[in-house]
Amino acid sequence: MRAVVTGGSGFLGSHLCERLVARGDEVVALDNFVTGTPANVAHLADEPGFDLVEVDVTRDVTVAGDVDLVLHLASPASPVDYLQLPIETLEVGSIGTMHALALAREKGARFVLASTSEVYGDPAVHPQPESYWGHVNPVGPRGVYDEAKRFAEALTLAHRSTHGVDTGIVRIFNTFGPRMRPDDGRAIPNFIRQALAGQPVTVAGDGSQTRSICYVDDLITGILAMADSEHAGPVNIGNPHELSMTELAEWIIELTGSTSTIRHIARPVDDPTVRQPDTALARELLGWEPQVEIEDALRRTIDWFRSEAQGPRLRARP
Ligand code: NAD
Ligand code: UDP
Repeated sequence: MRAVVTGGSGFLGSHLCERLVARGDEVVALDNFVTGTPANVAHLADEPGFDLVEVDVTRDVTVAGDVDLVLHLASPASPVDYLQLPIETLEVGSIGTMHALALAREKGARFVLASTSEVYGDPAVHPQPESYWGHVNPVGPRGVYDEAKRFAEALTLAHRSTHGVDTGIVRIFNTFGPRMRPDDGRAIPNFIRQALAGQPVTVAGDGSQTRSICYVDDLITGILAMADSEHAGPVNIGNPHELSMTELAEWIIELTGSTSTIRHIARPVDDPTVRQPDTALARELLGWEPQVEIEDALRRTIDWFRSEAQGPRLRARP
């Protein structure tokens, strides 16, 4: 099996490449490093079946030889990143997805789109089943990401119905683990970095808003289950373990043994109030459910951040 992973040197992409290589697949990772880094896959560089190619998928997606699977993950994913890169985010979700689908069509490969729980916006239905259409503000700041992903989903289904491409869509809920950029602005890397440094932990608003957080290993198992199936989806992949941002901040302060206090900061515009996946479909179609306990997952992630504190990712911070 030969797989192409767009966004292959990002947080999730690098874990996906690692698991594909470990099971004996050949992997071509495509990335322009806008939010990812080659360091994330440096440990795979000597694997015979692994290639990392610097390419902007909005410009070109050409791969020589056979391809069995295209996993399309390229896109800024942290709100801080996509708010800084609004046009790039819309382009990679639209033009980039078009190119990745064209590659799958040309090669007769299965295509899997990494969509997001953000397609549900600030949800009026809780938890969110795949049948829920969502509550998105197209002209709010998050619209650049949400609408890009909603367009990408529609484009994926159009290629399935019009060109017979074997497509699947996973809607990924908040996922965390090693190799998140400590400064990517998302809650978990922020909280861990701040707690380890003894700085105030920045909780947005009153901290009552919730997220449901999934460990990266579980998430990758879910994406691979979708890739190995023939289902079109969309299928939610996420851990239903829901908690408020105050609970998360307090938990991380406790697990790091930090003396940090909580500092409240402004809540971002259109920040979703709640979010929790309904995972019934993932269980039924893919036999998938998360296995890793969140406390264990947070400990593993904190350990990684601790070791990274000695490494270039944190040292490079201004
Ligand atoms: P990330 O920023 O770490 O990884 C994204 C990767 O895509 C980066 O390596 C980046 O350089 C690359 N990229 C962006 N634009 C590109 C372009 N035009 N050409 C080539 N490469 C490009 O983010 P992540 O958390 O690993 O997210 C990966 C995917 O999963 C994204 O599509 C994201 O929308 C989706 N997702 C992630 C989460 C999560 O919690 N991590 C949740 C929902 C959806
Ligand atoms: N958040 C926070 N402090 C931070 C960063 C984020 O309280 O330093 C909040 C953010 O406002 C949101 C939640 O944490 O309510 C999750 O944000 P994140 O960026 O991790 O993910 P997303 O909003 O994409 O779900």
